[in-house]
Amino acid sequence: MTQIKVDALISKQFLAADLNEIRAMQEESKKKQIQVEIVWRNVLLFVALHIGALIGLYQLIFQAKWDTVGWVFLLHTLGSMGVTGGAHRLWAHRSYKARFPMRVFLMLINSIAFQNDIIEWARDHRCHHKWTDTDADPHSTNRGMFFAHMGWLLVKKHKQLKIQGAKLDLSDLYADPVLMFQRQNYLPLVGIFCFALPTFIPVFFWGESAFIAFYTAALFRYCFTLHATWCINSVSHWVGWQPYDHQASSVDNLWTSVAAVGEGGHNYHHTFPQDYRTSEHAEFLNWTRVLIDVGATLGLVYDRKTTAEEVIQRQCKNYGCEAERAKMLQKLG
Ligand SMILES: [Zn+2]
Ligand SMILES: [Zn+2]
Repeated sequence: MTQIKVDALISKQFLAADLNEIRAMQEESKKKQIQVEIVWRNVLLFVALHIGALIGLYQLIFQAKWDTVGWVFLLHTLGSMGVTGGAHRLWAHRSYKARFPMRVFLMLINSIAFQNDIIEWARDHRCHHKWTDTDADPHSTNRGMFFAHMGWLLVKKHKQLKIQGAKLDLSDLYADPVLMFQRQNYLPLVGIFCFALPTFIPVFFWGESAFIAFYTAALFRYCFTLHATWCINSVSHWVGWQPYDHQASSVDNLWTSVAAVGEGGHNYHHTFPQDYRTSEHAEFLNWTRVLIDVGATLGLVYDRKTTAEEVIQRQCKNYGCEAERAKMLQKLG
């Protein structure tokens, strides 16, 4: 494994936040009232999805076969890993490298989650890290927790996001044929992997009703995975531990780690964004790390980046709290 020093990390990677730039942008933004333009099409789609998801939740509790319950859980786990292990840790942060078959696998399971194509997802996420809590952060917590959670998808993007986002180097994403394939075939891919196969497989293999399969494994599961991912933008910038950086809004949180298959170590992740583990939490709380490690055992993953212990200690001493880190790792490590 490659151990990266924080200095190299700051100078090389495009995700390092420049605190002076962020402060200047925040001051600038206070001078102007934000014009909120609601995108009614998205509002209606999300309302319809949530109604469908509630029907699916009822069916999941009272009517679905146990096989279908297991199927919903499996789809949530795979789809989430397509986001956390693929769009996030591999493509947005380049925290490890993956060979072609692994990249194809991650792209396909990413399509289960239907959270925009990976190039768009990674671009938004790079903006989030580089200009956290400014108008160039797509889900800035300065605009409230509902906005950070899902409100940002219901309104037009702030123009500052477009201006700053255009400065990011996304050439690595456009150079990956796997990502270009997903982008060019996105609607058929999500049609198959987010809706058709989740419905068809329970009907074909264990005789579930098509009605129940669609509402539970497609609509409810899709909605649940969305909320689990969105919690990283809201809850993980709100309630939890801050051993690595007290000034950041990001926190480490047990429950977001559970819901988002290992992505809840968000204070760690914002401090060391190129560490493929994204937290120091135990592996049973970090299933995405287990997936990446299994990929490495199979020879499909290499060059996993981690942060040296002395760098973490120095960071905690200067900007966080070593005692808080020890206390947290006693519970989650
Ligand atoms: Zn964040
Ligand atoms: Zn990230």
